[in-house]
Amino acid sequence: MMDASECGVRVMCRFRPLNEAEINRGDKYIPKFKDDDTVVITNKPYAFDRVLPPNTSQEQVYDQCAKQIVKDVLGGYNGTIFAYGQTSSGKTHTMEGKLHDPQLMGIIPRISHDIFDHIYSMDENLEFHIKVSYFEIYLDKIRDLLDGKKDHLSQVYSPDLFLCQGCTERFVSSPEEVMDVIDEGKANRHVAVTNMNEHSSRSHSIFLINIKQENIETEKKLSGKLYLVDLAGSEKVSKTGAEGAVLDEAKNINKSLSALGNVISALAEGTKTHVPYRDSKMTRILQDSLGETVAETKSTLMFGQRAKTIKNTVSVNLELTAE
Ligand code: ADP
Ligand code: MG
Repeated sequence: MMDASECGVRVMCRFRPLNEAEINRGDKYIPKFKDDDTVVITNKPYAFDRVLPPNTSQEQVYDQCAKQIVKDVLGGYNGTIFAYGQTSSGKTHTMEGKLHDPQLMGIIPRISHDIFDHIYSMDENLEFHIKVSYFEIYLDKIRDLLDGKKDHLSQVYSPDLFLCQGCTERFVSSPEEVMDVIDEGKANRHVAVTNMNEHSSRSHSIFLINIKQENIETEKKLSGKLYLVDLAGSEKVSKTGAEGAVLDEAKNINKSLSALGNVISALAEGTKTHVPYRDSKMTRILQDSLGETVAETKSTLMFGQRAKTIKNTVSVNLELTAE
């Protein structure tokens, strides 16, 4: 595993098993797994930083996709983990899973446990302040999931970053408190919408963990932010026949995912040319955690190219990590 200084963007591709409906209708499992970084689909190999076959456990996913980023964030870097994929490919299972089940919990609860295990193991001179926020972007509006009244947060540019103005921040002092905040946000989200499945496939949800630490003897300070993003479904929402609100939704999702793809491509190419952060609310929010170390990116990864191949395949859950 590389550390933050060596690596900018990593792309992991997780495959879920066939579900009951797919088995019942006789679907065959098409992907074939070769080495730990290649999947073969109808004789064509696709390479990623890591390929996670359907029998991969939640713990293995965490160890391979997130553990290092948590270390980096505790070391003062910013980071982002995205789950990208079509609806029902396993994004929420991967990011959240069953929050209170030790086996089935996903990346976010495991991160919370890891952070507090780390804190408990550190010497007493270190003082930690952990804050979390939870919001979603729907129809290009930012809604605070921890305060139902704030359904249209604005972004301010200050001094060289876009910040979400007025977003609720909660101090947390144990993994259980983090889980409580997530449960609260999910409950608010349910209240605000009529069809949760439909809604979650059309909105991006973002969980932000902010870690500040200070050595009270030396006064040395470190801070790191980690964005955990469960993106809207990547399936093309058809524009034909769509009208009004449905058409607006379709345009917004397509626009925000392609804005993200453009930013990632620019970052992954590792050149210092223009990175189009301003093109969407999502990329503005993530600006300070995507691309800090871009200039040193050695990876030849081309997100755009890879994402395109992935969009054309089925049941792929692509995770993208960046520091
Ligand atoms: P998405 O968020 O991408 O729309 P979900 O995470 O809700 O998809 O997954 C759809 C269904 O498939 C859920 O019932 C989930 O529990 C199940 N599922 C997803 N990934 C896996 C996996 N790797 N193993 C077992 N079940 C999974
Ligand atoms: Mg989901």
